[in-house]
Amino acid sequence: MTHDLVIRGGTVVTATGSRRADVAVHGGRIAAVEADLIGPAAGAREVVDAAGLLVLPGVVDVHTHARVATDAEPDRFFRDSVAAAHGGTTTFLAFNNPGTGSSPAAARSLRTGLREWLASTASDAAVDVGLSAVITASHGDAAAELPHLVDGGVPTFKAFMVYDFGVDDATLLGLLGAAAAAGGMLQVHCENRTILEALTARHLAAGETGPAFHATSRPPYVEAEAIARAIALARAANAPLYVVHLSSADALAEVRAARAAGLPVFAETCPHYLALTDERYALPPEDAARYVISPPLRPAGHPDALWAGLVDGSLALVATDHVPDRAGVEKQTWRESFDRISNGGPGIETLLAVAYDAGVAAGRIPIERLVDLLSTTPARLFGMPAKGAIEVGRDADLVLFDPDARRTIRAAGLHHASDYTPYEGRDVRGAVHSTLVRGSFVVRAGAFVGRRGFGQFVGRSLAAMR
Ligand code: MN
Ligand code: MN
Repeated sequence: MTHDLVIRGGTVVTATGSRRADVAVHGGRIAAVEADLIGPAAGAREVVDAAGLLVLPGVVDVHTHARVATDAEPDRFFRDSVAAAHGGTTTFLAFNNPGTGSSPAAARSLRTGLREWLASTASDAAVDVGLSAVITASHGDAAAELPHLVDGGVPTFKAFMVYDFGVDDATLLGLLGAAAAAGGMLQVHCENRTILEALTARHLAAGETGPAFHATSRPPYVEAEAIARAIALARAANAPLYVVHLSSADALAEVRAARAAGLPVFAETCPHYLALTDERYALPPEDAARYVISPPLRPAGHPDALWAGLVDGSLALVATDHVPDRAGVEKQTWRESFDRISNGGPGIETLLAVAYDAGVAAGRIPIERLVDLLSTTPARLFGMPAKGAIEVGRDADLVLFDPDARRTIRAAGLHHASDYTPYEGRDVRGAVHSTLVRGSFVVRAGAFVGRRGFGQFVGRSLAAMR
């Protein structure tokens, strides 16, 4: 067989080990992983020299809010997908916009939301994309719709315990059970709404309106209590629970205890909780507003606890919670008060860069564990058996990574649909050299060579993954 491509002489990294090997690609899939594939028995249309580079499975980012294009911003979904490619992310999941009004009529049905999202993203992405459906308090018939979404390749759903569109405990209990019965899994944003609203009101009454009070209105116990409650609800529903964006040692303790008790509780953390602390809220308010995300950045000590959770397996994976808010637009509401600032920040392009530097280069985790956390486990937990590992038969989603490179992260050098990065000026070790999606280069030697619409919708199923 003549291979389409052989990536020669790199160090191939999987979740279980690393070795010098050639990777052959045929028809967009991995056809062989062996030493010295370029022998008399095997030809190739193209040979790429990867000597000195790591060959990693493409990153699978299961938590982004990449936004579909609008007439005013026709390129924003495409730009985020290009940013993903530059960052080594070959598949990302986005959320639909369900409509967040309080009346049932304001929320489109989940099926309509899926159809609309597919129509508005299908020709846009440069890398592969999947969808998780947001369920709000307005989706009165969500439980009945879940089987249709599962059939449509969308087996994960996000619900919120906070915000006007969040669901109450009774609804959450019902959704957890309905998702499990349909073969799906609920992703839950866990914070105690009652307490954070009371603390917010107390700050505002005292005239404390700056971005710094975002953090003190949502201390770690606000997160930990909600996670403990979500775990209890999932237990009562006999359902798995996926905790999004876990940020604190207190919250981690709840997840660790649940897992020790044998409960199917999974949690992700995000690069910003691993690499940044609440010192950022001491910056001038215009800068501090860039770090208004929920949950907030935590005091020193919490990141080390989260790293320990990644090492011991209490935390399943790392994802970005990417929100393409702009400092010059969405974040400007800091001038009103902290509770009016759009929550979120960009991260789709910097996931591998920050996690490699702070994790592997800093000696906290081995490269194999990083691959597990960024690629293999996300693909498995979210039902993408063709993704997440360098194995014969899987999609040839690959990253050629230079571990010896040095670079400084700057917004001016990024490609996402935002105008800043939380990591401005951060020096990192390692850099993405090239990214391939299904055997095709989308980034080559640092330059984007992909195209709009190359990305495919990844229909997912959790059935085979358990
Ligand atoms: Mn959230
Ligand atoms: Mn989110």
